[in-house]
Amino acid sequence: MPEGHTVHRIADRFERDFSGKTVTISSPQGRFASAARLVSGQTLIRAYAVGKQMFLEFDGGGTIRIHLGIYGKWQFHDGDRDHEVVGQVRVRFSAGRVSADLRGPTVCEVISPDEVGAVLRRLGPDPINPNPRQRESHRFIERVTRSKSAVGLLLMNQDVISGIGNVYRAELLFRAGIEPHRPGTSLTVDEVQALWDDAVKLLKVGVATGFMITRDELFKKRPTKDERNWVYKREGQPCRMCGTEVSIELMAARKLYWCSGCQS
Ligand SMILES: [Zn+2]
Repeated sequence: MPEGHTVHRIADRFERDFSGKTVTISSPQGRFASAARLVSGQTLIRAYAVGKQMFLEFDGGGTIRIHLGIYGKWQFHDGDRDHEVVGQVRVRFSAGRVSADLRGPTVCEVISPDEVGAVLRRLGPDPINPNPRQRESHRFIERVTRSKSAVGLLLMNQDVISGIGNVYRAELLFRAGIEPHRPGTSLTVDEVQALWDDAVKLLKVGVATGFMITRDELFKKRPTKDERNWVYKREGQPCRMCGTEVSIELMAARKLYWCSGCQS
């Protein structure tokens, strides 16, 4: 499943290609056909992401909310020629010569400003949109330090922090030296603030590069998939820091990777 950096990159692309333009919206596959008629032909005011969700705000007052889920995918066309519809395209966005096809999202709906507000209030703060920064990290710190749940679960909870998935969860905890089973209440404010600051840093690298690189010495390089991370998908291999075998277990049905030598 895409983590927050991917969705932010797509929102940036929408801003560049569609913002301020009249957008034609169709549903070749048909499932979005009646909703498309509510906004098609309007001007896109802005595209933005919060965590793993993207919002396309149109001048008629409607907003399209999109959550890719596990199977959702985007395909952009630069407009050198007309592109035939291939496969199950739920929504096609076109403006002039550029177009974008959306396939298989978990959520794609047109909602009102009030409904947008309700979604945004429910979502936890997004490290890429720390605005205003102090208040956002404060919300995160409050939610973590008041919860008895394991910090490894809290980082995956989109009500606590938006945009973190399985890769960033494992890597943030490793980088902080925090054992994933520790309850939120056992973490100090400084520890949680440091987790937030590191999430801001890693997600920015993700938005800039398109890859979830979590080893500082590789930020500016083009590491292979096997090199990018400390513990993610490295179960059974020696920890890059201490040599202990990297552990794997299921935590709330998702694979959790961590090092029992480095994280306490
Ligand atoms: Zn280790």
